[in-house]
Amino acid sequence: MRVRILLFFIAILSLFLSACDRIEMPSGTAAVTDERLVNAATEPHNWLNHGRTYDEQRFSPLAQVNDGNVKQLKLAWHLDLPSKRGLEATPLIADGRMYTTGTWSRVYALDAATGELLWEYDPQVPPQKGIDACCDVVNRGVALWRDMIYVGTLDGRLIALDAMSGKEAWSVQTTPGDRRYTITGAPRIVNGNVLIGNGGAEFDARGYVTAYDAATGEQVWRFYTVPGDPTLPFENPILEQAADTWTGEWWKFGGGGTVWDAISYDPELNLVYLGVGNGTPWNRRVRSPGGGDNLFLASIVAVDADTGAYAWHYQTAPGDTWDFTATQHIMLADLEIGGETRKVLMQAPKNGFFYVIDRTDGELLSAKPFVEVNWALRIDMRTGRPVEASNARYQDGEFASSPAAPGGHNWHPMAYHPGTGLVYIPAQDLPWVYKEVEKFEFSKVTTNTGLDPIIASMPEDPAIQEEVSKLLKGYLLAWDPLEQQARWTVELPIAWNGGVLATAGNLVFQGTSHGEFIAYTADTGERLWAHDAQTAVLAGPVTYQVDGKQYVAVMAGYGTAFGIESGIVAKWAGVRALNRIVAYTLDGADELPPLPPLPEPPPPPPHTADTETVALGKLLYHQYCTRCHGDAGISAGVLPDLRYLDSDTHALWDGIVLGGALFDKGMPGFAAHLEKTETDAIHAYVIKRAHDPEYMPGS
Ligand code: CA
Repeated sequence: MRVRILLFFIAILSLFLSACDRIEMPSGTAAVTDERLVNAATEPHNWLNHGRTYDEQRFSPLAQVNDGNVKQLKLAWHLDLPSKRGLEATPLIADGRMYTTGTWSRVYALDAATGELLWEYDPQVPPQKGIDACCDVVNRGVALWRDMIYVGTLDGRLIALDAMSGKEAWSVQTTPGDRRYTITGAPRIVNGNVLIGNGGAEFDARGYVTAYDAATGEQVWRFYTVPGDPTLPFENPILEQAADTWTGEWWKFGGGGTVWDAISYDPELNLVYLGVGNGTPWNRRVRSPGGGDNLFLASIVAVDADTGAYAWHYQTAPGDTWDFTATQHIMLADLEIGGETRKVLMQAPKNGFFYVIDRTDGELLSAKPFVEVNWALRIDMRTGRPVEASNARYQDGEFASSPAAPGGHNWHPMAYHPGTGLVYIPAQDLPWVYKEVEKFEFSKVTTNTGLDPIIASMPEDPAIQEEVSKLLKGYLLAWDPLEQQARWTVELPIAWNGGVLATAGNLVFQGTSHGEFIAYTADTGERLWAHDAQTAVLAGPVTYQVDGKQYVAVMAGYGTAFGIESGIVAKWAGVRALNRIVAYTLDGADELPPLPPLPEPPPPPPHTADTETVALGKLLYHQYCTRCHGDAGISAGVLPDLRYLDSDTHALWDGIVLGGALFDKGMPGFAAHLEKTETDAIHAYVIKRAHDPEYMPGS
């Protein structure tokens, strides 16, 4: 009861504060104050924070659309955007306006009821920056504060825009220009500061999060997640202790540990929770040859919201050597555990264990596998550490790991329904084979994993492709965090499915990589409704209300790491690459026009190269080309499929691949890294692949 009275008092107080703090805004809109962000739960019609509320539960109390009528849900409007690459943003909704981001860090403001574009902002990211993005030129959304919108750009800027006009208010470069940093994550507002992390741990980045004064762009604090060169002064005292867990000369590669997605905030504890990523390179024997836990890689780190001072950490994968990031969604909730209300945070990171952690001090409360896990037998509750399987670190040769680098769960947001007590996880089984590279050479242009580049590639034999397809699974899991077990599971045709939204209408919404946007009952997982968005739907959906009408909206598009990199596995989704925003209501009257048929691919040139040339081409393709053009020479249609170039493009091969003729389209020239004999070999390999059969499900 006392809690309720206190909450009431806070709500009243915040009304006073927001009244004193009023900013001149056009009619029908009001400034998004710190108080409104803290009390976002009291505005059911809006979606003001990345996860709606600071606890990032992605639960909406709206119930006009519910399990009784969702079958009547129809498309209200759609807006097509001019790009084919990945969309990962969660739109924000403030008083009838939608703010979201597309590819290349572009920002869009829309009328949330009609889809009318109010303004758009293009930060003009140089196209050549695309090669520094491990996982497509994506962006996960904006932050809102007062009358401003904040976006982090792929080239490392943090930009403040006027929410009404889209005009730039200030811009700061948050990353050094001589390293391959990117930003894809959404900024978060905390006490009048705007927090932003970065990515680049596949290349040469050293991770950190910076807080800037949201009004001016002045830096307030910065927290480095991994130690730098220990002969130089440490930026904060905890890094001296962290450095004791590293060996060798890790700082030369950057070390990694980027905070590229999850940042959560508890206003009462005034703690910010950072989800920290993998090391650079992935392979610990290369990165930190004498071993060690390598703090704070693959950890959740709590820091003081106002100073960035370290509070506590929990490491999910000590001495990570698999790309087991802990950057995944960090969700806060108060749960009844052992007769006590515990303030917990929950995470389903890449490594396949679901963690419930006391968010006041980092105490591990429980951890159980939520997908197929074979790299560790269990989490030892006494030490909080995984009990690793033999050869999990591929020290004695190949290890087929479940999960692997794509994770049992990746960036796609989860949702929590306080009524069912369930966490809904976009989960998957995407095992991989790990094998150490014969000789590691640091690269300024490709990824730095320390792994054999070919070993995780799909075999060329269609019979083996069919067998492998049976191991790869995608499912929506309704997870009971108290019992640490699935309450219900929906199997989906392939992996890499969309983020989840839960509502008080006893519904969960999730998009899929095969193009459906689906509604299920939250309590039992019964499929009630679906719509064909004509492309993958991977981002986190939102719901909101304008003029008394409830909308459900989501960004739809393929691409992202899986769509551009996974080759035939991504092609199995059978969707087209296009970009659009879709919004649904019970009385929607919009329809998607049918897509024009795809042109037939041109016939490939004859395959005449010898086996050694093709083998060299295969190796180099997997080092230099896979990340954009798809595993084993196969594209899912987002970026060009090199097997099916037209004859003019084949004729221009040297000019493009060595000379950089398509530099302005984001395709760099590799003359500084590859010889002509090597690019000829890559050419021979993709021509050979054009003549190979491939397995498609149902064929
Ligand atoms: Ca990574």
